[in-house]
Amino acid sequence: MTSTISLKNVSKLYKDVPAIEDISFSLDEGELVALVGHNGAGKTTLIKAILGLIRPTGGTVRVLGEDPVSGNLSVRKDVGYLPESVSFHLALTGKEILSFYARLKRVPMSGWQNLFDLVGLAKTAADRPVRTYSKGMRQRLGLAQALLGEPRLLLLDEPTSGLDPALRRSFYDLILEFKRKGTTVLLSSHALSELEDRAERVIIVNRGRKIADGSLDELRRIACLPTHIRFKPSANAAVETWSRGSVKWLERKDKFLEADIDHREKIAVISAVTSDPDALTSMTIIEPTLDDVYAHFLQGQGRKP
Ligand code: ATP
Repeated sequence: MTSTISLKNVSKLYKDVPAIEDISFSLDEGELVALVGHNGAGKTTLIKAILGLIRPTGGTVRVLGEDPVSGNLSVRKDVGYLPESVSFHLALTGKEILSFYARLKRVPMSGWQNLFDLVGLAKTAADRPVRTYSKGMRQRLGLAQALLGEPRLLLLDEPTSGLDPALRRSFYDLILEFKRKGTTVLLSSHALSELEDRAERVIIVNRGRKIADGSLDELRRIACLPTHIRFKPSANAAVETWSRGSVKWLERKDKFLEADIDHREKIAVISAVTSDPDALTSMTIIEPTLDDVYAHFLQGQGRKP
């Protein structure tokens, strides 16, 4: 099966300054992948290389089997793109803007009402100039534009910036629906907490280089980050039998005990602690977050100003 996106040793130099260096990865049908990295790490440059908006200095990019710069341009109708800052002609109405992009992509405009519905824009907004839209409405129009023609690949550059929490949730519901239907989604964002339960794979870039690529669980394992366990034993609990390996329980306020547990010991320790449910009055298990994993991989890597 051809990958939806395939990058092999892709680099882009601006004059002699590398924006991305030697990046390789493939994305398959129906994958939702988060692209994360500091400001200036190279995320937008990567997305532009995939779109064919810039020609890489080295390496090869394939989108649905084609070179996005010089290959068969008909694949463009299968690609939806939401740029980092959406900006539309303010005098045009929402419907005129969609119609403009539908013509550019050579896809029918017939489903526009459905698209307005999907992104949560009222049909009454369709005939209003975009200058009367709020920031969230413009972002939703941007998403509608990206979804024109039911793309097989969606490239979303910081799509939730400017959206309130409820809109963010409905945005992800919609993206997950497209993913379920087989659309591949590459989404760049700084909002790590909202990606945690949604992206099945995370690619971390730093100073133009890929420094990690895997599911959150895989990256946690590679990083060897501990799981934090906190519990309150009942009065008669035999706490001394719960220590395994290197575990050191620290007593906190209100008799809570807590410890950072090495991931290799986690299951044995949880089994020991929960073997007698009457010995516990409460328990919390906190896995390393995407923020922790991200901080780990960036440690010691420095960052570009
Ligand atoms: P952000 O999170 O701030 O959007 P990013 O990860 O998307 O950042 P890029 O926009 O890809 O980062 O930029 C990567 C590097 O390439 C930066 O150092 C940037 O200054 C540089 N760069 C990007 N576009 C150009 C350009 N047209 N000319 C020169 N340098 C550029």
